[in-house]
Amino acid sequence: MSEYIYNIPAQQLPIEREGWLIVRTDEPAVLPTILTGDDLGAVVAVQLSSLASDSEALNAWTAGLPIELMMDDPAAEFPLLYRHTNLLDHHPVRVVIPVRPGFAKAVKVAVALEFAVRLDVGQPDPALIEELAAVLEFYLRQSSVAQPIEYFHGTLLGLFHAEPLPLWVIQDEEPGVMRYVTDEGRETMVGRLAEHQFALPPDASLVDWTEQALATAEDCRDCEFFLSCGGYFKWPRADYDCGGVKRIFGLLRDAAAELRRDLEAGPA
Ligand code: SF4
Repeated sequence: MSEYIYNIPAQQLPIEREGWLIVRTDEPAVLPTILTGDDLGAVVAVQLSSLASDSEALNAWTAGLPIELMMDDPAAEFPLLYRHTNLLDHHPVRVVIPVRPGFAKAVKVAVALEFAVRLDVGQPDPALIEELAAVLEFYLRQSSVAQPIEYFHGTLLGLFHAEPLPLWVIQDEEPGVMRYVTDEGRETMVGRLAEHQFALPPDASLVDWTEQALATAEDCRDCEFFLSCGGYFKWPRADYDCGGVKRIFGLLRDAAAELRRDLEAGPA
């Protein structure tokens, strides 16, 4: 079986290629019917592409299967999270929240409902950096936050253990592993790389990808956060100014150092 994980719409099943599947749909009720046998065995996660959909059919179906709830407009859609809380009885559930104006409130509601969060951070506008810093502060300082908020959580752990992972891995966008199948059945790269094509061989490592394709921008070469980022924020626009996101990386680095100091000091 290939190493690829295909993010595929339910209507494009069954897939001809071998691999693992993340099945996305806005009609969750069809999944227990169309995903059976080998097809179900290859599924590593389900994505609900519309929060307005009724997820009840998935509540007790295939317990333990991870589910992602895809939010489109955080300022308007956060109340829709309440209707999906029953999924938590049988599944790890993560809400994917785009970093757009008003996203901080959506994060707080998701965390209060005990969902994990993945920020779809894009290339955030300078005006959103303050809101991003406020959400990071909330994640770091609020004792009520029991679920991970990515990409903060993975980056903090990497810095704390001095084994940073690039955001391509933390954000589930590793180009040598993930593929996206469009609603029309066309195979592309995932996320911010979707409109790009690369000539790297199928067995290229993430280091190969980073050195030969992902982090070739001039700014990345001597960036102090290269190992935690891997050139992630230079896509899709290579001229993106990383000043704001470097500030967020700096806050995470400071938090990791503080955590280490606290642990070394031991109990007060
Ligand atoms: S923060 Fe910006 S400059 Fe630094 S590695 Fe990431 S994309 Fe490159």
